[in-house]
Amino acid sequence: MSSVNIEKLKEIVGENNVLYHKADLYVYGSDSSVHEAMPEAVVRPLNTEQVQAVMRYANSEKIPVIPRGSGSGMCGQVVPVQGGIVLDMKAMNRILEINPQDGYCRVEPGVVDDDLNRALKPYGVFYPPTPASSCAATIGGEIANNASGGRSVKYGAARDAILAMKVVMPNGDLLSFGSTTRVAASGYPLERLMVGSEGTLAVIVEACLRFVPIPKLRCLGTAKFNKLSEAGNAISDIMGSGCQPSMLELIDKIAIVAANKAAKLGLPEVEAILLYEADGMTKDVIDTEMAKIQAICEKHNCFGIESSYEEKERARIWAGRAKLFPSLSKYDERLASTSLADDMAVPFSKMAECADKIHEIAERNGLVMTAYGHCGAGCMHTKILMDTDQHISWENARKAVAEIYDFVRSVGGTTSAEHGIGLSKAQAFKTEKAASLELMRRIKRAFDPNNIMNPGKLMDGPDDWVEATTLRYQSN
Ligand SMILES: Cc1cc2nc3c(=O)[nH]c(=O)nc-3n(C[C@H](O)[C@H](O)[C@H](O)COP(=O)(O)OP(=O)(O)OC[C@H]3O[C@@H](n4cnc5c(N)ncnc54)[C@H](O)[C@@H]3O)c2cc1C
Repeated sequence: MSSVNIEKLKEIVGENNVLYHKADLYVYGSDSSVHEAMPEAVVRPLNTEQVQAVMRYANSEKIPVIPRGSGSGMCGQVVPVQGGIVLDMKAMNRILEINPQDGYCRVEPGVVDDDLNRALKPYGVFYPPTPASSCAATIGGEIANNASGGRSVKYGAARDAILAMKVVMPNGDLLSFGSTTRVAASGYPLERLMVGSEGTLAVIVEACLRFVPIPKLRCLGTAKFNKLSEAGNAISDIMGSGCQPSMLELIDKIAIVAANKAAKLGLPEVEAILLYEADGMTKDVIDTEMAKIQAICEKHNCFGIESSYEEKERARIWAGRAKLFPSLSKYDERLASTSLADDMAVPFSKMAECADKIHEIAERNGLVMTAYGHCGAGCMHTKILMDTDQHISWENARKAVAEIYDFVRSVGGTTSAEHGIGLSKAQAFKTEKAASLELMRRIKRAFDPNNIMNPGKLMDGPDDWVEATTLRYQSN
């Protein structure tokens, strides 16, 4: 029987904002990962006072609470592995202030990234982190995951955009972290501690974000390569040369074929393509930057360089790139695109080796795996394409994931660049951060002594991601 008092929750947020029927709960039991588990109730607060009341109730009864934005996370971050209440923050979606003079905006956590950027456009500014999922991702989810995107190579990730925030603590207290000023020197930067915390510390109810001017001009370039490693080496040379691209993306052949099938991109199906962009206020500056990048690509044997200032073409290519993850399931219709081992960061000098390693690990384990990502920002992504109905696929994936993260650690890389840890990567995260796990647990206890905030994630995540919550695996 449920330990959650549905009537109590209805009193707090109103009857229509509590979901508890099995079909509704099922929808809130997953995200964009392979993981699934059922919550006991879903609550949709409309304001901060309601969040405070829900937290006071849950804390007194020691009921897990999982804050949730759009559920587009790829690692099971919002999957309620210990049941409890999913706190759907999407109804708190007001833009509270746009302050051009002081260079910030204040928003509720449920605001969707694209909606914020639409509202900022008339002011000639934009909020830069913008993941490929910006049509769905909420500001709360982006902060809690430290999301980044194509433009992060020049403009930074969510962490770089956050100035201040208000949070509701597990006991219901409302606290303010950070400052709306550009500098704030003293004390522990608690607003930054919330970045990447994946809902394990407190509920973000308001965020104050900085924005930057929209550049007048953007130029898109494409360079083709016959070897993946040559594209990888070009990335490391571009980033080491003092160039400042505003985007620098790698796409391998598997991803090119899939994107062509799904989004009719018409890209040449070569071993690798670099998509790059320079932006600025004058054409001269951009042309110089583009020429430098082109020269480096040519040094690494690229061919067929094309570039264009044409806005429509640029938008078409980037829209196709944003759909890359869902497109991958078109590569071979018998194989599902999973978000396993989806994200890592390696030093620029190891990009080429990392891309090749992904393909080598895939081949050795009888899997199809792609290598792509916002490589200029240090990210490398892969996806394991596999027949999820076959037990053997999961066993092969288990080996491949372990090998990938062993490699990443061996070259000084890290388990997650931008997609977070959740359940899928807890094992790799715990190995990588072994020396600081106990300190992280103590910080968590200081915020959340009853361990109700998204329990069973990050440093407390499962040692075996496959058996933890993969219902499809368990049924095979
Ligand atoms: C097709 C696709 C493309 C993607 N591309 C990118 C990309 O380019 N870059 C990138 O970084 N990510 C990408 N992602 C991953 C994901 O979209 C982002 O991490 C995004 O920021 C998650 O936002 P969300 O609102 O869906 O958060 P959710 O998935 O709902 O939640 C993510 C985490 O945030 C916590 N959380 C949510 N709201 C709050 C709150 N108010 N207070 C405290 N904690 C909260 C949750 O508990 C959870 O741990 C992609 C995903 C998909 C499906």
